[in-house]
Amino acid sequence: MMKKIYLLGATGSIGRQVLEIIRGRPGFKVESISFNKNLKLGREIIAEFKPEYVAVGEYADMVALKGEFPRVKFGFGEEGLLEAATHGGDDGYLVNAVVGSAGLRPTVAAIKKRRNILLANKETLVVAGEIIMPMVREAGVTLLPIDSEHSGVFQCLKSGKREEISRIILTASGGAFRSLTRAELKDVGVEDALRHPNWRMGAKITVDSATMANKGLEIIEAHHLFGVEYDRIETLLHPESAVHSLVEFRDRSVIAQLSLPDMRIPIQYALFYPERVENEYPELRLEDLNKLHFYKMDYNRYPLLDLAYEAGKAGGIMPAVYNAANEAAVELFLNGRIAFLDIETIVEKAVADERNVENPTLDTVLRVDREVKSKILNQRWVK
Ligand code: NDP
Ligand code: MG
Repeated sequence: MMKKIYLLGATGSIGRQVLEIIRGRPGFKVESISFNKNLKLGREIIAEFKPEYVAVGEYADMVALKGEFPRVKFGFGEEGLLEAATHGGDDGYLVNAVVGSAGLRPTVAAIKKRRNILLANKETLVVAGEIIMPMVREAGVTLLPIDSEHSGVFQCLKSGKREEISRIILTASGGAFRSLTRAELKDVGVEDALRHPNWRMGAKITVDSATMANKGLEIIEAHHLFGVEYDRIETLLHPESAVHSLVEFRDRSVIAQLSLPDMRIPIQYALFYPERVENEYPELRLEDLNKLHFYKMDYNRYPLLDLAYEAGKAGGIMPAVYNAANEAAVELFLNGRIAFLDIETIVEKAVADERNVENPTLDTVLRVDREVKSKILNQRWVK
């Protein structure tokens, strides 16, 4: 059976790896793609995969591409992204590899269309997990995680039932600055933050790994995906990134998922699920790694992880506030407008300043997302 793929964020780190896996394999048809600004790569993807529909960020880029590809339908901006997610019939798979809360509305629209979701865009579940998971159940669609730790948990759960879980443990490499003290973080720059020891990823998630906000987003993501309380979701420092996650069941048996740190493995798992197919990737040889290390997470070293637990437990709009403040702060940092440690200060202040709203609607979380971001981005920042 042909799997129809609707791929948001085709030019990104995850998007490119999705296309690499699909390339040359029968059984997939890329029906639509989206990208934001990377016209050069976007063009190549359109020429190779011949999607019916393409969404780009800007109107002018859409006009330029229309001239080059007269048979392709185009859109732009938020509406274009929504159309790319919902284009065509009601079957197929939305692969959401956009970065940030921009991925939320397209995911909701695709679920309403009863389209299955392969989700890399963790921000979607952080901002609106309380709204999305019930929608997934009601629509009867499958939502599979692409995030490596969550793909790992999903695979571990093949060994037991949800109600038999006693703990979920997500590992963290520690990111670019894992060997630095907090005092040494004062002067680190953008280039330094983008040098992740184990993974090659987009800029935002690489910075999130250095602040540990990424693990914060991931515990909230895990809470929603697997319906497990925060007290049962733990994190562990594991510099080798060989064990991605572990599930302890109530009989004290622990199942772990291991692989080399290569995102193609969880992406391939999601694309082919429920089948497992062969590939040519290098084997994980534990005898070559020789030693694996695990350390207790240091919450004082990584206050944004601690804060994610607080925001997650508070629920309501607080995870959306945490996420929006983090997205805005990382953008400021990447543009050289604030220092690395300001990211923490900004997110802490945003969460402290906000009064919670319980059981928010989708419109409410989207409004909060916009307001928190614009407040932070429009402030005058002096480094
Ligand atoms: P990238 O920055 O590499 O790619 C992001 C993609 O989204 C690009 O195609 C980009 O377009 C597009 N994009 C950026 N901003 C917008 C916007 N406002 N509206 C629409 N499209 C936009 O990110 P990653 O691939 O690293 O990450 C994607 C998601 O997957 C994130 O949520 C991340 O947390 C998650 N993830 C990533 C992992 C990884 O290994 N990279 C691992 C686990 C999770 P363009 O390039 O054309 O500007
Ligand atoms: Mg991850």
